[in-house]
Amino acid sequence: MPVWIRPSMLVQIVGVVAVALVAGFGLRFALTGSDQHGAPVPAAAVSPTAGFSATALAGRTIVLDPGHNGGNSRAGAIINRPVPAGGFDKECDTVGAETDGGYPEHAFTFDLTQRAAAILRSRGARVVLTRPDDAGVGPCVDERARIGNSAGAAAVVSIHADGGPAEGRGFHVIAPALSPDRANAAILAPSSRLAATLRSAFGRATGQPLADYLGKEGMTIRSDLGGLNLSRVPKVFLECGNMRNRADAAEITDPAWRARAASGLADGVTAFLLVEGSPSSPPR
Ligand SMILES: [Zn+2]
Repeated sequence: MPVWIRPSMLVQIVGVVAVALVAGFGLRFALTGSDQHGAPVPAAAVSPTAGFSATALAGRTIVLDPGHNGGNSRAGAIINRPVPAGGFDKECDTVGAETDGGYPEHAFTFDLTQRAAAILRSRGARVVLTRPDDAGVGPCVDERARIGNSAGAAAVVSIHADGGPAEGRGFHVIAPALSPDRANAAILAPSSRLAATLRSAFGRATGQPLADYLGKEGMTIRSDLGGLNLSRVPKVFLECGNMRNRADAAEITDPAWRARAASGLADGVTAFLLVEGSPSSPPR
């Protein structure tokens, strides 16, 4: 007797297979991230497509939001001005963190964003960045959220690295809580799923431990971030590590580690989108 598969079941099956593929590739990265002598593998050794077809994410729009900007430190009057943040006002943007050696967060986030964007584009996605270079000012947090909303993004990731206590190590993902103006209720559930998928894929690709100095199991839920409060599409923050921690800083400043981090970021977003179902917006 033939077994009939309903379209809805097919979507689920495709999703499960996609997650298994991502998990498998994550494991392969973990196993091949360094050779037997411990030397880092050059970025070029990591395939940008990682087994996904050039149309795997066709029709999907992804917004990547590299935190801060290279010109912020010279533009206090602009970045300190209050902007709407979802029921309260908050400063437009901040300068961001840096390692003890002086590698700034804005440079790290821009580098990682470009690497992840290239991978996601190689899988057919339309990728929009919230800033075109690392020499400008802002944009403000409300504008960053607006870019995701008006792009009709299926997923938005704000990319950061923390400036926490020196003894604290590891990465974490920030998912939205209900904002004070209660206007982001519709994105809480899908954003939570995006956070979980991203946490798994990023940890697998990098070997980076979950943050041991805040949150719970590499996750925090916050209602004080304008970028999450003002989003009307699924969105999370990825805090890739603690720039003030010696071990995390050694990774963040290593281009080969950043290549693995970009793979983890891209794989997490890819797995989320393939499981969430059909495209939410056509490419424009
Ligand atoms: Zn930041």
